[in-house]
Amino acid sequence: MGITKRKQNRRRMPLRWQIICYFVTFVFVLMLVLWLSQTVFVDRFYQRVRMNELDRASDTIVSALDSDSLAAITENIAASKQICVLLYDGNGNILLSYDIAPDCIIHRASPETISGYYRQALDAGGKAVTRITRDSFRTVDADGKQLGSPPDATIVLTRIAENADGEVRVLFLNTVIAPLAATVRTLKMQILMISVVLVPLAFLLAVLMARNVSRPIDKLNRSSQALAKGQYEADFSVSSGCREVVELSDTLSHAASEISKADRMQKELIANISHDLRTPLTLIKGYGEVMRDIPGEMSAENMQVIIDETERLSSLVTDLVDVSRMSAGVPILNLSAFDLGDAVRETVNRYQKLIENDAYQMTCSCTDRLPVSADYVRILQVVYNLINNAINYTGEDKRIAVRAFRNGDAARFEVSDTGNGIPEDQLPLIWDRYYKVDRVHQRAAVGSGLGLSIVKNILNLHHAKFGVESVVGSGSTFWFELPLRDDGSEAL
Ligand code: ADP
Repeated sequence: MGITKRKQNRRRMPLRWQIICYFVTFVFVLMLVLWLSQTVFVDRFYQRVRMNELDRASDTIVSALDSDSLAAITENIAASKQICVLLYDGNGNILLSYDIAPDCIIHRASPETISGYYRQALDAGGKAVTRITRDSFRTVDADGKQLGSPPDATIVLTRIAENADGEVRVLFLNTVIAPLAATVRTLKMQILMISVVLVPLAFLLAVLMARNVSRPIDKLNRSSQALAKGQYEADFSVSSGCREVVELSDTLSHAASEISKADRMQKELIANISHDLRTPLTLIKGYGEVMRDIPGEMSAENMQVIIDETERLSSLVTDLVDVSRMSAGVPILNLSAFDLGDAVRETVNRYQKLIENDAYQMTCSCTDRLPVSADYVRILQVVYNLINNAINYTGEDKRIAVRAFRNGDAARFEVSDTGNGIPEDQLPLIWDRYYKVDRVHQRAAVGSGLGLSIVKNILNLHHAKFGVESVVGSGSTFWFELPLRDDGSEAL
């Protein structure tokens, strides 16, 4: 990371403080909501509740107008909801009356006031609500009666209805909004006390929580910085933390071990390559000097040594270029239809000429008609690499068997040698880049450790099946299968 970027990041708030801020803000908002709802808005809320109660009570009484238990129902409502009730018939006679509150105004108001409520209801279509506030309340009492301690407000609901016989009934309900000032004062005190206890407690909790969450992340951050500096043994284990943090720790540990492996292999490759480059270069230089300095050494054999060594160098460079090209991105396959048997036969023929002097015995059994659709050049590269390995690693008898045949709906290629084989635990590793089973003995004799990695890449690109069967002490068989194209259509 660049220094400026790191400086910019430093300006950001650390996770610990962010958590504390969120938590404290949350508690603050919570207390504010509590404060507003319990003190500022409690009055309005209480009035709404009383209003609804009045409404429901009037519905219940009106729907019970014809019931025998009208009196009982009304009395029950009046007592349980603290609502005063007056029910008149159409002639102004009182049918029911419950005066349960000393502040009730319908029982104390003048007949004019009552008929005023009635007219209001009549004008409004049968139902009216009158809210009388504390100040206007005193003036309501036309008789000049002392009404005790005046309430904050009182609500009168007037409703005109008819019973089943079509007789008019006028219902007056009155409920008192009790003064809440004392209650609100108590609540304020309570909330203040709760805040005094809760805010420091919330802060403490936030600090503890933030420490718990941020500590493992801090550690992972420090270890990652160490890893970035090349300390692959950096410790990513965390003892506490949530699932995501533990997963992150596992991922980073895995990444560290992979990076360290890749780094080790890279170093080995450089060591191997430089060794492999130096050997032919030394020979070329040596032979060149001998031919320049010693008369009569300018022979065709010496020239051939130089040419052979140059070829070795060029094949090494080709391998390296192939690997880097393939790991740089997904190469595009150049698909064409060809016969795998013919391709294998051709490659083996080319080899026969090369190895006949060294007493190798290479047998080739290829069945006819193995049409496949694949990248010809790359598949030949695979065949070449596998046969090359078989030559390099085969046993004392120097025998190699190459086969190409039909296996179900696939064309199968196999190459077997009689060498030392590969131990079972190494089998999955040989396809890795730069991997060599026996680093000490084979290096000088054979290639760069890139061959099988190239093979694997090419076959994966073709979605081909491939593998190796090996018995330690008796040899290995490398194989791959490509889908056969029987009906002339593209098989891939
Ligand atoms: P190299 O260039 O070293 O042969 P490869 O990628 O082709 O690299 O092979 C990787 C390793 O797999 C080899 O170093 C060797 O140890 C092992 N290997 C490959 N082919 C054979 C084989 N036919 N028999 C035994 N070991 C083999």
